[in-house]
Amino acid sequence: MNYCDLAPSYIRSIAPYQPGKPIAELERELGITGIVKLASNENPLGASPAAMAAMQEAIKSIALYPDGNGFELKDALVKRYGVTHASITLGNGSNDLLELAARAFLAPGDKVVYSAHAFAVYALASQAVGATGISVPAINFGHNLDAMRQAAQDHKAKIVFIANPNNPTGTFLTAQELQSFMRQLPANILVVLDEAYNEYLPEDKRYDSISWLKDFPNLIISRTFSKAYGLAGLRVGYAMAHEQVTDMMNRVRQPFNVNSVAQAAAVAALRDVSFVKRTFELNQRGMSQITEGLTKLGLEYIPSFGNFVAFRIGGATAMYRRLLELGVIVRPIANYDMADWLRVSIGLESENAKFLTALKQAIGEQK
Ligand SMILES: *Cc1c(COP(=O)(O)O)cnc(C)c1O
Repeated sequence: MNYCDLAPSYIRSIAPYQPGKPIAELERELGITGIVKLASNENPLGASPAAMAAMQEAIKSIALYPDGNGFELKDALVKRYGVTHASITLGNGSNDLLELAARAFLAPGDKVVYSAHAFAVYALASQAVGATGISVPAINFGHNLDAMRQAAQDHKAKIVFIANPNNPTGTFLTAQELQSFMRQLPANILVVLDEAYNEYLPEDKRYDSISWLKDFPNLIISRTFSKAYGLAGLRVGYAMAHEQVTDMMNRVRQPFNVNSVAQAAAVAALRDVSFVKRTFELNQRGMSQITEGLTKLGLEYIPSFGNFVAFRIGGATAMYRRLLELGVIVRPIANYDMADWLRVSIGLESENAKFLTALKQAIGEQK
């Protein structure tokens, strides 16, 4: 018998998430070293030294279960953002929070709306619970909020997922656009506003979405420690929402979904404001370095508000493979309906330079 047939058809039709290639895997395959990975939007500075110290300390108590309530981390978030404990859900990465929202509110047959080229996990999380995803065509690779609202109303969707900035396109919606969308959307449709790259926004683009929670009880804001805080390997994120929404999300999570080392590190990372500032500044410089390099090579790119940029290149798959041979891992995004594009994460200056040199060489060879 085919054991796949034991799974519901909506599970069998899931296309698995395609992660960035790990450095160790490419080392094994090609027997080369000095590989640069610019494929998963990780922090090239690593993690905050304060977070590293907190982890060392937390390891001493590793035999004990974590605080299933995450009191200290929630308390740090309460103090930072002025929300209540009861409005915070902690997650094993913010990926967990996207799934918790889907699991808490969606039943088989329910509808979910997201944008074309939006983060792949929205479709995955929805499909895993038997819901139907509706992908709304983008405008210039960004979310078309009017069309998304219309689709949500027409299809009586339960959840709308919005990434701001979006990955892999790096596109950005202003506070005004988002607020206007929220005001027009019926209050019985939940909005998951995924702000994984919030900390990378330039000052003039920053907005206080948390203050909107009091006006929009259907808003769920998700954030992560994986990107600007440099803790991707640890898996910790948080969501803020109305207390009733939060209550439902907490009912479906694993009792100990965020491990104790991650909780301790996140508290320390949140306090290390200067690390996040250094990360931001490095990213600004690296973004200029890479986009200027792409322009010199005559390549089109999508202006990005994250720590990565998507650029258009003929023969993207072959180019991706050639870059691997040259020791640079970037991300193909054909699965985002962007077959002619690659996405590169912003790294250290030397990593960005290695990428640009390899890209120039690969393009030269192509001709
Ligand atoms: C990276 C990313 C996430 C989540 O990452 P976690 O490591 O699970 O926190 C969520 N949304 C977007 C848009 C991302 O790019």
